[in-house]
Amino acid sequence: MSNEPQTLTEAILYFADPDVALKTMVDLRWPIGVCCPTCGRADVRYISTRRLWECKEVHPKKQFSAKLGTIFEDSPLGLDKWFTAVWMIANCKNGVSSYEVARAIGVTQKSAWFMLHRIRMAMQTGSFLKSGGEFEADETFIGGRSKNMSKTRRAKTITGSGVSGKEVVMGVLHRGTKQEPSKTIAIHVPNRKKATV
Ligand SMILES: [Zn+2]
Repeated sequence: MSNEPQTLTEAILYFADPDVALKTMVDLRWPIGVCCPTCGRADVRYISTRRLWECKEVHPKKQFSAKLGTIFEDSPLGLDKWFTAVWMIANCKNGVSSYEVARAIGVTQKSAWFMLHRIRMAMQTGSFLKSGGEFEADETFIGGRSKNMSKTRRAKTITGSGVSGKEVVMGVLHRGTKQEPSKTIAIHVPNRKKATV
C-alpha cells in the first residue's frame, strides 16, 4: 500500500474509511481468505451493504462481522477508532496515554483507557482473538516475543542486523495446518520515522 498513513492525522483519515478499516482487519485476521469463525467454511458470501459475511451452514451466528470472536467484538466502537489506537501504540515511540488517544479519536478517557488496555493485552498474549489461536500478533516495535518469530527473523532481531524491529511494526504469524505451513505477514502500520517532511 502506498497510501499508508505517516502521521496521526493521516492515520485518522485513513482508518475513517470503513472499507479501509475493514480491509485492515480482514488482512490481519484472514490473510488467506475469509472463513466462518463458527464452522470454518471458506465459501462464505460477503454482504457488502452490511459489511457482513454469511455462512452457508445452518448454525447460530451464520452472519458474522470481522469483529466476531476478537477483542473488538463487545465494543460499540468502530474499527476506525480501534485501528487508529493500534496505530498510535505502534507508532508513538515514547508511549501513548489514554488522554492522547481519547483526544485523537473522540472518545472518553475511560473508553480510551479500556482500548489501550485491550490492545496491549492482545499484544502481550499475541492474539486479537478472544480465545487465542488462529493467528498471533507479534509486536516487534515494543520488543515482540522471540519465541513467536521465525528463525530468520529472530536471528535478525536479536543480532540487530535486520530492520531493528521498528520498520515492521506488527507481523502476524498465521498458524499452519497440515495443508498449509505457517507464514508471517506484515500489517501495514508504518513507523513514524518514515514521515514525510
Ligand atoms: Zn459457518
